[in-house]
Amino acid sequence: MKKKSIKDIDLKGKTVFVRVDFNVPIKDGKIEDDTRIRGALPTIKYAIEQGAKVVLASHLGRPLKDKKKAEEKGTPYDSAKYTLRPVAERLSELLESEVGFEGADIASQIATLAPGGILMRENLRFHPGEEKNDAEFAKNLAEGIDVYVNDAFGTAHRAHASTEGITHFVDTCVAGLLMEKELEFLGKALNDPERPFVAILGGAKVSDKIPVIESLIKRKVDKLLIGGAMAYTFFKAQGYTVGKSLVEDEMMPKALEIEAQAKAAGVELLLPTDHQVVDSYDPLNSRKAIQIEFTNAGLVGLDIGPDTAATFAKALEGSKTIVWNGPMGMFEEKPFDEGTIAIANAVAEATDNGATSIVGGGDSVAAVNQAGLADRISHISTGGGATLEFLAGDTLPGVAALDDK
Ligand code: AMP
Repeated sequence: MKKKSIKDIDLKGKTVFVRVDFNVPIKDGKIEDDTRIRGALPTIKYAIEQGAKVVLASHLGRPLKDKKKAEEKGTPYDSAKYTLRPVAERLSELLESEVGFEGADIASQIATLAPGGILMRENLRFHPGEEKNDAEFAKNLAEGIDVYVNDAFGTAHRAHASTEGITHFVDTCVAGLLMEKELEFLGKALNDPERPFVAILGGAKVSDKIPVIESLIKRKVDKLLIGGAMAYTFFKAQGYTVGKSLVEDEMMPKALEIEAQAKAAGVELLLPTDHQVVDSYDPLNSRKAIQIEFTNAGLVGLDIGPDTAATFAKALEGSKTIVWNGPMGMFEEKPFDEGTIAIANAVAEATDNGATSIVGGGDSVAAVNQAGLADRISHISTGGGATLEFLAGDTLPGVAALDDK
Protein backbone atom coordinates (compact mmCIF):
# COMPACT_ATOMS: atom_id res chain seq x y z
CA MET A 1 0.00 0.00 0.00
CA LYS A 2 1.40 3.40 -0.99
CA LYS A 3 1.81 5.90 1.81
CA LYS A 4 0.86 9.57 1.74
CA SER A 5 3.83 11.90 1.51
CA ILE A 6 4.47 15.40 2.75
CA LYS A 7 3.93 16.51 -0.86
CA ASP A 8 0.33 15.27 -0.80
CA ILE A 9 -0.89 17.61 1.94
CA ASP A 10 -1.25 21.31 2.68
CA LEU A 11 1.31 22.52 5.22
CA LYS A 12 0.64 26.25 5.25
CA GLY A 13 0.48 27.56 8.81
CA LYS A 14 0.48 24.00 10.20
CA THR A 15 2.62 22.88 13.11
CA VAL A 16 4.50 19.87 11.79
CA PHE A 17 6.34 17.29 13.90
CA VAL A 18 9.13 15.76 11.83
CA ARG A 19 10.70 12.56 13.20
CA VAL A 20 14.22 12.71 11.79
CA ASP A 21 17.24 10.47 12.25
CA PHE A 22 19.89 12.69 13.80
CA ASN A 23 21.62 9.78 15.51
CA VAL A 24 25.04 11.02 14.38
CA PRO A 25 28.50 10.24 15.77
CA ILE A 26 29.51 13.00 18.23
CA LYS A 27 32.83 13.10 20.04
CA ASP A 28 33.62 15.75 22.66
CA GLY A 29 30.67 17.79 21.48
CA LYS A 30 31.84 17.72 17.84
CA ILE A 31 29.88 16.06 15.06
CA GLU A 32 32.12 13.59 13.22
CA ASP A 33 29.79 12.86 10.32
CA ASP A 34 26.79 15.03 9.42
CA THR A 35 25.47 12.87 6.55
CA ARG A 36 22.21 12.19 8.39
CA ILE A 37 21.63 15.87 9.12
CA ARG A 38 22.17 16.71 5.46
CA GLY A 39 19.85 13.85 4.53
CA ALA A 40 16.97 15.52 6.37
CA LEU A 41 17.45 18.93 4.75
CA PRO A 42 15.13 18.41 1.75
CA THR A 43 12.15 17.61 3.98
CA ILE A 44 12.87 20.44 6.41
CA LYS A 45 13.41 22.98 3.62
CA TYR A 46 10.26 21.85 1.85
CA ALA A 47 8.18 22.21 5.01
CA ILE A 48 9.52 25.71 5.65
CA GLU A 49 8.96 26.80 2.06
CA GLN A 50 5.36 25.67 2.40
CA GLY A 51 4.94 27.94 5.43
CA ALA A 52 4.91 25.24 8.10
CA LYS A 53 6.14 25.59 11.68
CA VAL A 54 8.60 22.77 12.16
CA VAL A 55 9.28 20.73 15.30
CA LEU A 56 12.15 18.27 14.85
CA ALA A 57 12.67 15.20 17.01
CA SER A 58 15.26 12.43 17.03
CA HIS A 59 17.01 9.97 19.29
CA LEU A 60 20.77 9.97 19.85
CA GLY A 61 22.45 6.83 21.15
CA ARG A 62 21.10 5.03 24.18
CA PRO A 63 21.42 7.37 27.18
CA LEU A 64 19.20 5.44 29.58
CA LYS A 65 20.95 2.16 28.88
CA ASP A 66 24.30 3.85 29.42
CA LYS A 67 23.03 5.43 32.65
CA LYS A 68 21.84 2.08 33.97
CA LYS A 69 25.15 0.42 33.13
CA ALA A 70 27.08 3.23 34.84
CA GLU A 71 24.90 2.91 37.95
CA GLU A 72 25.46 -0.85 38.07
CA LYS A 73 29.21 -0.47 37.69
CA GLY A 74 29.46 2.62 39.90
CA THR A 75 31.13 4.57 37.07
CA PRO A 76 30.21 8.18 36.17
CA TYR A 77 27.45 8.83 33.64
CA ASP A 78 27.63 11.94 31.50
CA SER A 79 24.27 12.92 30.05
CA ALA A 80 25.92 15.79 28.12
CA LYS A 81 27.24 13.17 25.66
CA TYR A 82 23.69 12.59 24.51
CA THR A 83 22.39 16.10 24.00
CA LEU A 84 21.19 17.03 20.52
CA ARG A 85 22.28 20.63 21.03
CA PRO A 86 25.36 20.34 18.74
CA VAL A 87 23.08 18.91 16.05
CA ALA A 88 20.77 21.94 16.32
CA GLU A 89 23.81 24.18 15.87
CA ARG A 90 25.03 22.28 12.82
CA LEU A 91 21.56 22.27 11.31
CA SER A 92 21.35 26.00 11.84
CA GLU A 93 24.64 26.45 9.92
CA LEU A 94 23.48 24.21 7.09
CA LEU A 95 20.13 25.97 6.76
CA GLU A 96 21.62 29.41 7.38
CA SER A 97 18.75 30.14 9.68
CA GLU A 98 18.00 29.93 13.36
CA VAL A 99 17.03 26.62 14.93
CA GLY A 100 15.48 26.85 18.38
CA PHE A 101 16.15 24.22 21.03
CA GLU A 102 13.95 22.66 23.69
CA GLY A 103 13.95 24.61 26.95
CA ALA A 104 11.95 24.34 30.17
CA ASP A 105 8.56 24.92 28.54
CA ILE A 106 8.45 23.14 25.20
CA ALA A 107 4.64 23.44 24.94
CA SER A 108 4.77 27.23 24.85
CA GLN A 109 7.81 27.15 22.54
CA ILE A 110 5.73 25.11 20.10
CA ALA A 111 2.67 27.30 20.53
CA THR A 112 4.61 30.47 19.74
CA LEU A 113 6.53 29.16 16.70
CA ALA A 114 6.13 31.40 13.65
CA PRO A 115 5.56 30.03 10.13
CA GLY A 116 8.97 29.01 8.77
CA GLY A 117 10.32 28.65 12.32
CA ILE A 118 12.23 25.55 13.46
CA LEU A 119 12.45 24.08 16.94
CA MET A 120 14.42 20.99 17.89
CA ARG A 121 13.40 18.78 20.75
CA GLU A 122 16.03 17.29 23.06
CA ASN A 123 17.04 13.62 22.63
CA LEU A 124 13.82 11.60 22.76
CA ARG A 125 15.58 8.73 24.50
CA PHE A 126 16.14 10.79 27.63
CA HIS A 127 12.50 9.83 28.28
CA PRO A 128 11.79 6.22 29.29
CA GLY A 129 8.43 6.53 27.50
CA GLU A 130 10.05 6.77 24.06
CA GLU A 131 11.30 3.21 23.66
CA LYS A 132 8.41 1.83 25.71
CA ASN A 133 5.99 3.47 23.29
CA ASP A 134 4.20 4.91 26.30
CA ALA A 135 0.83 6.39 25.34
CA GLU A 136 1.10 9.29 27.78
CA PHE A 137 4.49 10.30 26.38
CA ALA A 138 3.25 9.90 22.80
CA LYS A 139 0.26 12.14 23.61
CA ASN A 140 2.66 14.65 25.04
CA LEU A 141 4.71 14.67 21.85
CA ALA A 142 1.53 15.26 19.86
CA GLU A 143 0.48 18.31 21.85
CA GLY A 144 0.02 21.33 19.57
CA ILE A 145 0.91 19.28 16.47
CA ASP A 146 -1.26 19.32 13.32
CA VAL A 147 0.78 17.05 11.05
CA TYR A 148 3.18 14.17 11.78
CA VAL A 149 5.96 13.45 9.30
CA ASN A 150 8.24 10.43 9.59
CA ASP A 151 11.54 10.89 7.77
CA ALA A 152 13.52 8.40 9.89
CA PHE A 153 13.40 5.15 7.96
CA GLY A 154 16.24 3.69 10.04
CA THR A 155 14.04 3.56 13.15
CA ALA A 156 10.78 2.70 11.42
CA HIS A 157 11.12 -0.98 12.39
CA ARG A 158 10.70 0.01 16.04
CA ALA A 159 7.32 0.85 17.53
CA HIS A 160 8.42 3.74 19.72
CA ALA A 161 6.45 6.76 20.92
CA SER A 162 7.90 9.03 18.21
CA THR A 163 7.60 6.48 15.40
CA GLU A 164 4.27 4.83 16.16
CA GLY A 165 2.57 5.96 19.39
CA ILE A 166 2.29 9.61 18.35
CA THR A 167 0.38 8.70 15.19
CA HIS A 168 -2.64 7.76 17.35
CA PHE A 169 -2.88 11.37 18.52
CA VAL A 170 -2.31 13.25 15.26
CA ASP A 171 -4.88 13.22 12.44
CA THR A 172 -2.53 13.55 9.48
CA CYS A 173 0.54 11.27 9.37
CA VAL A 174 2.73 11.20 6.27
CA ALA A 175 6.15 10.18 4.97
CA GLY A 176 8.96 12.71 4.60
CA LEU A 177 10.93 12.95 1.35
CA LEU A 178 13.73 10.65 2.55
CA MET A 179 11.25 8.07 3.80
CA GLU A 180 9.31 8.32 0.54
CA LYS A 181 12.50 7.58 -1.43
CA GLU A 182 13.30 4.57 0.76
CA LEU A 183 9.79 3.15 0.30
CA GLU A 184 9.95 3.71 -3.44
CA PHE A 185 13.30 1.97 -4.02
CA LEU A 186 12.90 -0.83 -1.50
CA GLY A 187 9.23 -1.35 -2.38
CA LYS A 188 10.11 -1.79 -6.07
CA ALA A 189 12.94 -4.23 -5.25
CA LEU A 190 10.64 -6.23 -3.01
CA ASN A 191 7.50 -6.29 -5.13
CA ASP A 192 8.37 -5.64 -8.74
CA PRO A 193 12.13 -5.89 -9.37
CA GLU A 194 13.53 -5.57 -12.84
CA ARG A 195 15.46 -8.74 -13.61
CA PRO A 196 18.01 -10.19 -13.37
CA PHE A 197 17.81 -9.38 -9.66
CA VAL A 198 20.96 -10.08 -7.64
CA ALA A 199 21.21 -9.87 -3.86
CA ILE A 200 24.53 -9.73 -2.03
CA LEU A 201 24.57 -10.46 1.68
CA GLY A 202 27.50 -10.43 4.05
CA GLY A 203 28.37 -9.74 7.66
CA ALA A 204 29.10 -11.75 10.72
CA LYS A 205 25.91 -13.58 11.54
CA VAL A 206 23.74 -15.69 9.30
CA SER A 207 21.12 -15.82 12.09
CA ASP A 208 20.40 -12.07 11.65
CA LYS A 209 19.82 -12.52 7.95
CA ILE A 210 17.71 -15.66 7.75
CA PRO A 211 14.36 -13.89 7.29
CA VAL A 212 15.74 -11.72 4.49
CA ILE A 213 17.45 -14.71 2.80
CA GLU A 214 14.24 -16.73 2.91
CA SER A 215 12.18 -13.82 1.63
CA LEU A 216 14.59 -13.22 -1.27
CA ILE A 217 14.49 -16.90 -2.20
CA LYS A 218 10.69 -16.94 -1.99
CA ARG A 219 10.58 -13.89 -4.24
CA LYS A 220 12.91 -15.73 -6.60
CA VAL A 221 15.85 -13.39 -6.67
CA ASP A 222 17.90 -14.62 -9.66
CA LYS A 223 21.22 -14.83 -7.81
CA LEU A 224 22.09 -14.73 -4.14
CA LEU A 225 25.74 -14.03 -3.32
CA ILE A 226 26.81 -14.73 0.25
CA GLY A 227 30.13 -13.52 1.65
CA GLY A 228 31.52 -12.45 5.01
CA ALA A 229 31.80 -14.64 8.07
CA MET A 230 28.24 -15.88 7.57
CA ALA A 231 29.48 -18.04 4.67
CA TYR A 232 31.47 -20.24 7.10
CA THR A 233 28.31 -21.63 8.67
CA PHE A 234 27.40 -22.92 5.20
CA PHE A 235 30.88 -24.37 4.65
CA LYS A 236 31.03 -26.12 8.00
CA ALA A 237 27.53 -27.52 7.41
CA GLN A 238 28.79 -28.89 4.08
CA GLY A 239 31.62 -30.67 5.88
CA TYR A 240 34.54 -28.33 5.13
CA THR A 241 37.15 -27.48 7.73
CA VAL A 242 36.85 -23.77 8.46
CA GLY A 243 39.55 -23.50 11.12
CA LYS A 244 38.94 -20.73 13.60
CA SER A 245 36.67 -18.72 11.30
CA LEU A 246 33.42 -17.42 12.80
CA VAL A 247 30.65 -20.02 12.66
CA GLU A 248 27.20 -20.27 14.21
CA ASP A 249 27.05 -24.01 14.84
CA GLU A 250 23.37 -24.01 15.75
CA MET A 251 22.57 -22.45 12.37
CA MET A 252 24.18 -25.24 10.32
CA PRO A 253 20.92 -27.15 9.71
CA LYS A 254 19.30 -23.88 8.64
CA ALA A 255 22.17 -23.21 6.22
CA LEU A 256 21.57 -26.58 4.54
CA GLU A 257 17.85 -25.86 4.45
CA ILE A 258 18.51 -22.52 2.75
CA GLU A 259 20.65 -24.23 0.11
CA ALA A 260 17.83 -26.68 -0.55
CA GLN A 261 15.28 -23.86 -0.73
CA ALA A 262 17.43 -21.97 -3.22
CA LYS A 263 17.84 -25.06 -5.39
CA ALA A 264 14.12 -25.80 -5.37
CA ALA A 265 13.31 -22.19 -6.29
CA GLY A 266 15.89 -22.07 -9.09
CA VAL A 267 17.88 -19.38 -7.29
CA GLU A 268 21.59 -19.47 -8.01
CA LEU A 269 23.32 -19.39 -4.61
CA LEU A 270 26.97 -18.37 -4.82
CA LEU A 271 29.35 -18.84 -1.91
CA PRO A 272 33.03 -17.80 -1.87
CA THR A 273 35.51 -20.18 -3.51
CA ASP A 274 38.60 -18.65 -1.93
CA HIS A 275 39.33 -16.45 1.06
CA GLN A 276 41.97 -14.39 2.81
CA VAL A 277 43.15 -16.24 5.86
CA VAL A 278 45.63 -15.63 8.65
CA ASP A 279 47.38 -18.09 10.90
CA SER A 280 45.84 -17.66 14.33
CA TYR A 281 49.35 -17.82 15.88
CA ASP A 282 50.76 -15.06 13.71
CA PRO A 283 47.82 -12.98 12.50
CA LEU A 284 49.84 -9.90 11.55
CA ASN A 285 52.24 -11.53 9.08
CA SER A 286 50.49 -14.53 7.68
CA ARG A 287 47.75 -13.21 5.42
CA LYS A 288 47.29 -15.25 2.26
CA ALA A 289 44.55 -16.13 -0.19
CA ILE A 290 43.68 -19.82 -0.41
CA GLN A 291 40.86 -21.96 -1.77
CA ILE A 292 38.17 -22.68 0.80
CA GLU A 293 38.86 -26.44 0.71
CA PHE A 294 42.50 -25.95 1.77
CA THR A 295 41.59 -24.31 5.07
CA ASN A 296 43.21 -26.10 7.98
CA ALA A 297 42.40 -26.03 11.68
CA GLY A 298 44.83 -23.21 12.56
CA LEU A 299 43.51 -20.66 10.05
CA VAL A 300 40.95 -17.87 10.34
CA GLY A 301 39.12 -16.57 7.28
CA LEU A 302 38.75 -12.80 7.36
CA ASP A 303 37.79 -11.76 3.83
CA ILE A 304 36.77 -13.17 0.47
CA GLY A 305 39.66 -13.90 -1.90
CA PRO A 306 40.38 -12.44 -5.36
CA ASP A 307 38.76 -15.34 -7.26
CA THR A 308 35.54 -14.84 -5.33
CA ALA A 309 35.63 -11.06 -5.84
CA ALA A 310 35.97 -11.68 -9.60
CA THR A 311 33.19 -14.31 -9.65
CA PHE A 312 30.84 -12.07 -7.69
CA ALA A 313 31.63 -9.11 -9.97
CA LYS A 314 30.87 -11.30 -13.00
CA ALA A 315 27.59 -12.39 -11.42
CA LEU A 316 26.55 -8.73 -11.28
CA GLU A 317 27.17 -8.12 -14.98
CA GLY A 318 23.94 -7.52 -16.84
CA SER A 319 21.87 -7.36 -13.67
CA LYS A 320 19.00 -4.89 -13.52
CA THR A 321 18.38 -4.81 -9.75
CA ILE A 322 21.02 -5.19 -7.02
CA VAL A 323 20.48 -5.21 -3.28
CA TRP A 324 23.57 -5.31 -1.07
CA ASN A 325 23.76 -5.52 2.71
CA GLY A 326 26.76 -6.52 4.80
CA PRO A 327 30.56 -6.60 4.36
CA MET A 328 32.46 -9.42 2.64
CA GLY A 329 35.02 -9.60 5.44
CA MET A 330 36.38 -7.95 8.54
CA PHE A 331 35.98 -4.63 6.83
CA GLU A 332 37.18 -2.43 9.72
CA GLU A 333 40.68 -3.97 9.63
CA LYS A 334 42.77 -3.17 6.59
CA PRO A 335 43.64 -4.99 4.33
CA PHE A 336 40.60 -7.17 5.08
CA ASP A 337 38.42 -4.45 3.54
CA GLU A 338 39.66 -5.35 0.06
CA GLY A 339 36.92 -7.85 -0.75
CA THR A 340 34.20 -5.44 0.35
CA ILE A 341 35.73 -2.57 -1.62
CA ALA A 342 35.96 -4.83 -4.70
CA ILE A 343 32.25 -5.57 -4.39
CA ALA A 344 31.49 -1.86 -3.95
CA ASN A 345 33.30 -1.21 -7.25
CA ALA A 346 31.47 -4.04 -9.00
CA VAL A 347 28.10 -2.73 -7.80
CA ALA A 348 28.97 0.78 -9.02
CA GLU A 349 30.03 -0.60 -12.40
CA ALA A 350 26.84 -2.62 -12.78
CA THR A 351 24.89 0.54 -11.90
CA ASP A 352 26.76 2.47 -14.62
CA ASN A 353 25.61 -0.27 -16.98
CA GLY A 354 21.93 0.12 -16.16
CA ALA A 355 21.23 -1.66 -12.88
CA THR A 356 19.25 -0.07 -10.06
CA SER A 357 21.40 -0.60 -6.98
CA ILE A 358 20.40 -0.36 -3.34
CA VAL A 359 23.06 -0.49 -0.64
CA GLY A 360 22.11 -0.66 3.03
CA GLY A 361 23.78 -1.42 6.36
CA GLY A 362 26.56 0.54 8.08
CA ASP A 363 29.62 -1.32 6.73
CA SER A 364 28.51 -1.64 3.12
CA VAL A 365 27.53 2.04 3.04
CA ALA A 366 30.87 2.97 4.64
CA ALA A 367 32.68 0.92 1.97
CA VAL A 368 30.84 2.75 -0.79
CA ASN A 369 31.64 6.12 0.78
CA GLN A 370 35.29 5.27 1.45
CA ALA A 371 35.76 4.17 -2.14
CA GLY A 372 34.16 7.44 -3.32
CA LEU A 373 31.41 5.54 -5.13
CA ALA A 374 28.30 6.95 -3.46
CA ASP A 375 27.12 8.90 -6.50
CA ARG A 376 27.36 5.77 -8.66
CA ILE A 377 24.85 3.88 -6.48
CA SER A 378 21.14 4.38 -7.21
CA HIS A 379 20.00 4.41 -3.60
CA ILE A 380 21.94 4.38 -0.36
CA SER A 381 19.51 3.22 2.26
CA THR A 382 19.60 4.94 5.63
CA GLY A 383 18.42 1.78 7.34
CA GLY A 384 20.35 -1.22 8.60
CA GLY A 385 17.89 -3.41 10.50
CA ALA A 386 14.93 -1.55 8.99
CA THR A 387 16.14 -2.26 5.44
CA LEU A 388 16.58 -5.96 6.20
CA GLU A 389 13.16 -6.20 7.84
CA PHE A 390 11.54 -4.41 4.91
CA LEU A 391 13.22 -6.75 2.42
CA ALA A 392 12.17 -9.71 4.55
CA GLY A 393 8.61 -8.61 3.80
CA ASP A 394 7.85 -7.57 7.37
CA THR A 395 5.54 -4.69 8.17
CA LEU A 396 7.49 -1.86 9.75
CA PRO A 397 5.38 -0.28 12.52
CA GLY A 398 6.62 3.23 11.69
CA VAL A 399 5.56 2.82 8.07
CA ALA A 400 2.29 1.03 8.75
CA ALA A 401 1.26 3.93 11.02
CA LEU A 402 1.35 6.46 8.15
CA ASP A 403 -1.79 7.38 6.18
CA ASP A 404 -2.44 5.37 3.03
CA LYS A 405 -2.47 7.25 -0.24
P1 AMP B 1 26.74 -7.76 10.59
O1 AMP B 1 26.52 -6.87 11.76
O2 AMP B 1 26.21 -9.13 10.75
O3 AMP B 1 26.37 -7.12 9.26
O4 AMP B 1 28.32 -7.98 10.51
C1 AMP B 1 29.24 -6.94 10.35
C2 AMP B 1 30.53 -7.38 10.93
O5 AMP B 1 30.92 -8.60 10.36
C3 AMP B 1 31.67 -6.44 10.71
O6 AMP B 1 32.03 -5.91 11.95
C4 AMP B 1 32.77 -7.31 10.12
O7 AMP B 1 34.04 -7.07 10.70
C5 AMP B 1 32.31 -8.70 10.48
N1 AMP B 1 32.85 -9.74 9.59
C6 AMP B 1 32.53 -9.96 8.31
N2 AMP B 1 33.23 -10.99 7.82
C7 AMP B 1 34.03 -11.43 8.81
C8 AMP B 1 34.97 -12.49 8.92
N3 AMP B 1 35.27 -13.27 7.89
N4 AMP B 1 35.55 -12.66 10.12
C9 AMP B 1 35.27 -11.87 11.16
N5 AMP B 1 34.38 -10.86 11.12
C10 AMP B 1 33.78 -10.64 9.96
